[in-house]
Amino acid sequence: MKIAIIGAGNVGATIAYTLATQGLASDVSLIDLNPEKAYGEVLDIAHGGAVSEHVNLRAEGYEGLDDADIIVHAAGRGRKPGESRLDLAKGNIKITEGIIAKVKKHDNGRALILVVTNPMDVLTYVFHKRMGIDRRRIFGSGTVLDSSRFKFLLSNYYKTSPRNIHAMVIGEHGDSGVPLWSAATMGPVPLSAYSSREHPPLSGEDRARIGQEVVQAGQEVIKRKGATYYAIAMSVTQIIKVIVNNENRVLCVSSYIDGDYGVEDVCLSLPAFLGRDGIRERITVPLTPEETLALRKSAGVLKDMLKEVGYQ
Ligand code: NAD
Repeated sequence: MKIAIIGAGNVGATIAYTLATQGLASDVSLIDLNPEKAYGEVLDIAHGGAVSEHVNLRAEGYEGLDDADIIVHAAGRGRKPGESRLDLAKGNIKITEGIIAKVKKHDNGRALILVVTNPMDVLTYVFHKRMGIDRRRIFGSGTVLDSSRFKFLLSNYYKTSPRNIHAMVIGEHGDSGVPLWSAATMGPVPLSAYSSREHPPLSGEDRARIGQEVVQAGQEVIKRKGATYYAIAMSVTQIIKVIVNNENRVLCVSSYIDGDYGVEDVCLSLPAFLGRDGIRERITVPLTPEETLALRKSAGVLKDMLKEVGYQ
């Protein structure tokens, strides 16, 4: 199993590190515009090989994609202070289009493509349009991270392990993402029906505050340390683990949507079964009318951005 990561920055290098410490793949490659940076990251991780799992780490050119099983796109940049989302989108679309030309040249016909660079939903769409390959092979890291943040915030409220909570965010990885309160559970109990002596049921205000904190969570990190990379690397590693082990597990990844909930021709996150051959099937969650409306709005935000950058 070979994972090729394009972009050896904070996110790409941390994904490589996380994969190496978990021994999930036999081969991990880093490809970057700056080969010295990629090689430096490879050396730094490989120096720990004797006290960790065995992985063949390499810094390579795009020929490294020839035998890849999963290609992770983590090249590009994050939003600069004061920069609009649209300007970030334009910059990273240009970088991504250049990368897609190389991915196409080295496509072995089976590698899955996992998009992480932001705006992730827009760039997943760009990959679909430009690659023109089986839709199951291309998806974005989606709201796996947002859903984990949602569970973290709920676990803080209930003072319990986030693993006791099942909850997800659907739609855009960004401001219009939709926390699915109707599907959230504590263990097997719907959150709407759960309360204890210590924890009264969540009020409408609590929900609004937590919902807001979910979408602002990334900014809370960025304003303190300039970037986010640990939790996204853990989320991407989780996605890769599900693929490598062919788990057929449900994760909220970003995929090409063609009609679900009245949403069409856009990439956004909905829960989907994921396995060795990529996206198998999306799972239909019964949404409340408010959640359906919020999902359609989220799709509208993404479609507006696709129009502004000339992709629709
Ligand atoms: P970074 O600036 O640390 O690294 C980016 C790397 O990309 C650099 O090493 C750079 O040399 C490389 N690069 C740029 N153009 C390239 C090209 N044409 N070909 C190959 N490599 C190229 O940035 P980062 O912190 O690693 O963030 C990367 C992306 O991940 C950003 O867009 C960020 O917003 C995104 N991100 C996404 C999520 C998510 O949930 N999807 C979370 C965190 C960060």
